[in-house]
Amino acid sequence: MNTTFSRIVNLEFHTLGKDPKTLELEADASELQELSETGAIAKVHARIEVTPLAGEAYLGQGEARGILKLDCGRCLEALDQPFFIKFNLLMEKSTEKGLSWSDDGDQGVEDYQVKIGSDIREIPLDSIIAEQVLLNYNLHPLPALDAQNKCVQCGRLAFTAEETKRADKVDPRWAGLQGLKDSGKKDPKGPDSGEKRGKA
Ligand SMILES: [Zn+2]
Repeated sequence: MNTTFSRIVNLEFHTLGKDPKTLELEADASELQELSETGAIAKVHARIEVTPLAGEAYLGQGEARGILKLDCGRCLEALDQPFFIKFNLLMEKSTEKGLSWSDDGDQGVEDYQVKIGSDIREIPLDSIIAEQVLLNYNLHPLPALDAQNKCVQCGRLAFTAEETKRADKVDPRWAGLQGLKDSGKKDPKGPDSGEKRGKA
């Protein structure tokens, strides 16, 4: 069994041979748009066990791990949430060009199937990892509180309902949020037309 290292979270299809292989892949989350949109930061690691099947096909059994930077719903501070996801990828050679992902209704949510044209050398895995993160992690966590009213996740003192009401007016963090919304409105490239998010 061979182990190879690659700089990016792409499966190098052209390097797969007739023997089982373990691929270790790594990327900066900032280079992977869909994944960074889920809140992923720092390095993302993936490991894929590739088993050759009959008929120029391969089964990849993958796992990926990294860190999500989320906003704690209790204390409104940033919270680092490690993630670990798994997926299966069935790869088949195709006579067509390009990559063709198929969505078979019988597949499990972590099973993916792709046909690979002769022009394809690499299979991007960031969409799969991003989708599994979305399916498996609450990106808006509201952790439980301990007896001292502290967030069990980050240990910070949580807002009580009363404090949250007052925070609407005085807490500087809300002012910062409003600033973000305002700058979003001014962005000429932003999706303008009347789709307002949050409270009116
Ligand atoms: Zn917290």
